[in-house]
Amino acid sequence: MNKGMLIILSGPSGCGKGTMLKEVIGRTNCEVSVSATTRPMRTGDIDGVQYHFVTKEAFEACIQNNELLEYAEYCNHYYGTLKSNVEAIRAQGKHVILEIEVQGALTVMESHPDAVTIFTVPPSLEELRRRLRKRGTEDEATIEKRVARAKEEIPFAPRYQYIVWNDKLEDAVDDFCAIIQAEANRAVNCKERIGALIESC
Ligand code: 5GP
Repeated sequence: MNKGMLIILSGPSGCGKGTMLKEVIGRTNCEVSVSATTRPMRTGDIDGVQYHFVTKEAFEACIQNNELLEYAEYCNHYYGTLKSNVEAIRAQGKHVILEIEVQGALTVMESHPDAVTIFTVPPSLEELRRRLRKRGTEDEATIEKRVARAKEEIPFAPRYQYIVWNDKLEDAVDDFCAIIQAEANRAVNCKERIGALIESC
């Protein structure tokens, strides 16, 4: 069995990554890695589902023990990817999606040059602000902080292999799935299966 692919998805907070991923999971052999974070839980968040919500001390212990594939500070909170999660998913032959911000993504691009990298963008900053307000989980100051961060992140989009425009959700999901399918069908990602077939010839 081939190990699953490592897929990095970045894009401004509020541009619909979560909604898009919910649809993608049902249609592909992918699983999203649950990150650790020190940010407070939002209404509707469940520990162990959206994130492992941990204290700053517990997060710093993970850093010390080299348990993180990458981590970053985002709007005054730590976010990080647990190596153990990623390996457990890939070992099952499933593709693992890291839904992470740009600094963490650049770290993983260096350590895993074979990763598939996707950046998703809203059609405009105005639309991003509207979506963040509609989500209704943050106050106006936090929304403006996230829009400011989006302005810093969007210029990194050309460092990724693919751009997915999240204008209409269905189109964004279709594009995302098409990318995953094409990448999974690359000969290098089918080595074991095609090898077995060749041997039987
Ligand atoms: P939110 O607080 O809106 O859930 O996430 C804020 C930002 O943190 C998003 O851009 C999200 O992609 C990013 N993020 C979530 N988990 C991780 C992680 O494990 N590592 C890094 N570097 N960023 C993350």
